[in-house]
Amino acid sequence: MGTLHSSALPINPSGLGVNADLTPDVTQDSSQPAASAGCNCYLSNHTLVSRIDAAIKDPDRTGLDRIFQALQDASLHVSSYLACARCNGGCPRLINLAVLHQRQVSLLCSMAKNPAAYLGGAASEGLRFALGAYRLPDEDDLDHKRIALLGAARRIDALVTSFDDRVRSHQDAEMVGEPGIEMTEAARLNLRWLLDVARNLKSRLKVILSILENANWTTAGT
Ligand SMILES: [Zn+2]
Repeated sequence: MGTLHSSALPINPSGLGVNADLTPDVTQDSSQPAASAGCNCYLSNHTLVSRIDAAIKDPDRTGLDRIFQALQDASLHVSSYLACARCNGGCPRLINLAVLHQRQVSLLCSMAKNPAAYLGGAASEGLRFALGAYRLPDEDDLDHKRIALLGAARRIDALVTSFDDRVRSHQDAEMVGEPGIEMTEAARLNLRWLLDVARNLKSRLKVILSILENANWTTAGT
């Protein structure tokens, strides 16, 4: 457990299956470039996906501090990406964000299922919450890590809810369209994929949050 595979697998909306990622098997609308000129949004998105992937694939070599930092950076990136005037605000941006949100949720999922690998891995050994020179007792320290992760999961849940709203607004705009111009097959496929991703992520987050809300999570499986 705790490892993820990148192959395309069916959606598993009812559980925590770490293999439930959807891959963006969609057709890019050729009129809308995936990357924008003049800003770093696409590159930042790609870099964050790689950082989060590294934590999923090799928890032993990724300390909890770096995981929290990557999740925080991802949240900040989403805000600036959505505010970027240079980026195309349509489907390409939503697809890039979908890929990032998938990785965020996959990491949470992997951590929720296998706390020992992330809390007790080599890279996280010796990492403790501190207040000046004060160190928490071990048991409290573990619970603070759970609470910190729960906070990160709730922030990601809010991002995914907002993503879902954006996809639906985009769908409404596409449906209205320009008079006399029908929605292309590519646009239809992209929208269907985005709606599936949003639904899948929301459902997985619900399970993840319920696991992390359990005070005994840190000792699960040990
Ligand atoms: Zn941009």
